[in-house]
Amino acid sequence: MTTGPAGSGDTPSGRGGFLPGADRSRPPAPDDLALPVAGRKLLTGPDGGLPRIGGLPAGLDWVPLGTLDGTPAWAAEVADPESVTGRWRGWRSLATELPGPLADLAGRALAVVTWRRTHRWCGACRTELADVPGETARRCPGCGLTVFVPLSVAVLVAITRRGRSGGPDELLLVRHAYGPTELWALVAGFVEAGESLEAAAHREVGEEVGLAIGRPGYVDSQPWAMSGPGTLLAGFTATVTDPDAEPVVDPKELTEARWFPVDALPAELPPAYSLSRWLIDAAAARAPR
Ligand SMILES: [Zn+2]
Repeated sequence: MTTGPAGSGDTPSGRGGFLPGADRSRPPAPDDLALPVAGRKLLTGPDGGLPRIGGLPAGLDWVPLGTLDGTPAWAAEVADPESVTGRWRGWRSLATELPGPLADLAGRALAVVTWRRTHRWCGACRTELADVPGETARRCPGCGLTVFVPLSVAVLVAITRRGRSGGPDELLLVRHAYGPTELWALVAGFVEAGESLEAAAHREVGEEVGLAIGRPGYVDSQPWAMSGPGTLLAGFTATVTDPDAEPVVDPKELTEARWFPVDALPAELPPAYSLSRWLIDAAAARAPR
């Protein structure tokens, strides 16, 4: 199995095979892919991959997710994880082992199930929402309000500067005050309503490390289920406008920020299947030595 961009040589968005959809024109078949969800965990089968519908208890409320290489995939919320045989795992650890399209499908299962649980009633008139046929959407029979799975977009920025005294280029890495705090990661943050991706990149870099950057260059994107249902990461590279400027961290967000020569990056980097890591590796590969 490939483990994602670093293993396969693909960029995260280059992964094919998974097509999101909401086809209910036929019921789930025994050989269809099954993605039971309990809270923030997914069920894996005996071989560590995804189970099939036929291997799971009857009576689950299956919701269509789309297809993987033409095979329909379904998710269901499981109230009592003990009632189902198999191993329950978090998305992040699953994603390290599953090929990219399967990780994306698992992320969609988490997003859709969580969204359905938290969007049961109309937010305007309190009527119970109904599924819209053929779409991942719910509509209010009372007032017509339609709700979709929300997408939360976040930007990642790989910031570089020219090397000191003829040395290799340098990449800015940060340690976050929350989440996996031991990792050296990239400046990141959610896009505000009314803001462009590029403006968010400028703002987050300014807020988190106090630096000004040139025009951010878009590289790639990746759905990222760990940061909440419907999170979509957009990755950018940028160079600092003042190569002599040092980062000043916002202590609410970060514990540390440091320039690293790209041929001497720390070992504690984000996992290979992440867009963060792909941007870091790309910055390291591109830089002249
Ligand atoms: Zn309503």
